[in-house]
Amino acid sequence: MTDPWREGPREECGVFGISWPGRTVAPLVYLGLVALQHRGQESAGIATADQDGLHLHKGMGLASRVFADRLDALPGSVGIGHVRYSTMGGAVLTNAQPVVVPSPWGSLALAHNGNLTNAPRLRAELASAGVRFFGSSDTEVLAQCVATAPARDPEGAVRYAMERVEGAYTAVLLAQGVLYAFRDAFAIRPLVLGRVDGGWVVASETCALDQVGARCVRDIEPGELVVVRGDELSCQRVLRSPRRAHCVFEYIYFARPDTVLVGRTVHRVRRAMGRVLAREHPAHADLVVPVPDSGTSAALGFAEQSGIPFELALVKNRYVGRTFIEPDPHRREGDVRMKLNPVRELVAGQRVVLVDDSIVRGTTSGKIVRVLREAGAREVHVRISSPPIRWPCFYGVDTSSRRQLAAAELDVEAIRQRIGADSLGYLSQEGLVEAIGLARTELCMACLDGHYPTGSPDEQEAGRAALEAVP
Ligand code: SF4
Repeated sequence: MTDPWREGPREECGVFGISWPGRTVAPLVYLGLVALQHRGQESAGIATADQDGLHLHKGMGLASRVFADRLDALPGSVGIGHVRYSTMGGAVLTNAQPVVVPSPWGSLALAHNGNLTNAPRLRAELASAGVRFFGSSDTEVLAQCVATAPARDPEGAVRYAMERVEGAYTAVLLAQGVLYAFRDAFAIRPLVLGRVDGGWVVASETCALDQVGARCVRDIEPGELVVVRGDELSCQRVLRSPRRAHCVFEYIYFARPDTVLVGRTVHRVRRAMGRVLAREHPAHADLVVPVPDSGTSAALGFAEQSGIPFELALVKNRYVGRTFIEPDPHRREGDVRMKLNPVRELVAGQRVVLVDDSIVRGTTSGKIVRVLREAGAREVHVRISSPPIRWPCFYGVDTSSRRQLAAAELDVEAIRQRIGADSLGYLSQEGLVEAIGLARTELCMACLDGHYPTGSPDEQEAGRAALEAVP
């Protein structure tokens, strides 16, 4: 896909699940999805279950639009929900989640965040065994892996599917009124477990637990399957792997600042990134300006470390949405133009440090630099709170192919020229690891260093291309 305006990497999806006997959970699932809306704005869906079976509603757009006046049609005390940005399979309603498929145990509903790197092969195998597919998403492949598993019950079927699928996934599944939540062996995408009085909640991020008044209990472990029957919880480790590989971009950009990932509040980590960035790439300047909102925490850290005053000198129009997760490229271009406006009085005649979280192509950064210069900024020094993105992601984030990544082709000086900045500095990989505070061996940094925890980039690229070619 050609998109000259995309800047930061686009995000993937958010999942939510709850089992709370005696309560009607659809309004809570909805609240959870609203809290996770930043993870995907393309479609939203909720499935609930009661004694009459499964109830499903999904549609294109924001959760508030999809569920206006529709929650009453979703009875039941157990439910799952999903917000989506498509990274595999097109942006169409048939690929919206939860996906519902028939099984020996009645209809199953499944929602998933991540990308299955062996989905094309599994899909071909299932299709040759007579399984019919209705969409082109890897989520449908995962759902059919469960539904067709040679197992006695859904729990065994989920275990079987976890053994077969490869790549990154956090998933919630609803079968026979039981909630299942499971996570890949590397724990690439986030998933947390929460407790309400008499019920259990799982969600991509802790901010969704907060939204429904749940207390965070813990992260769901790599390769773990959690089963919730009513208020009863059982947990088992299905898969083992030599290492964890938590996605660093959850810290850099995807997750909400109030979310806690692996015990670390995202805002604090981003602030630490800004401090390290200021140490690594100091600037002689009069003010530090974030690109709102994702650059704000890092800019605060940069200002703290450097002693340069922090100013909110770029004002965001909050009604436009996040530029890079708008699926239609033509609408994205319009978004960029409408989105940010400088406070002229603050920037005129000043030397500005502009802090942003990432550069993909460099086009939006160049545009913001121009906007600041037109507002009278004397110098613009761009500081990026992530290392250069040189490799594509195959784990649920659309960073696109290598040839569309500025840092895959150009060195820092060439990117500086492209964006028209007076200077440009990126956070180093070591600085990023220091700011997160986890061992490098516990992190996925594949789009930065090319080391993919689940296999070589060529295999992963081939897999994605194959599934995207599915009509
Ligand atoms: S490749 Fe990059 S964006 Fe993808 S999971 Fe790894 S760190 Fe995250």
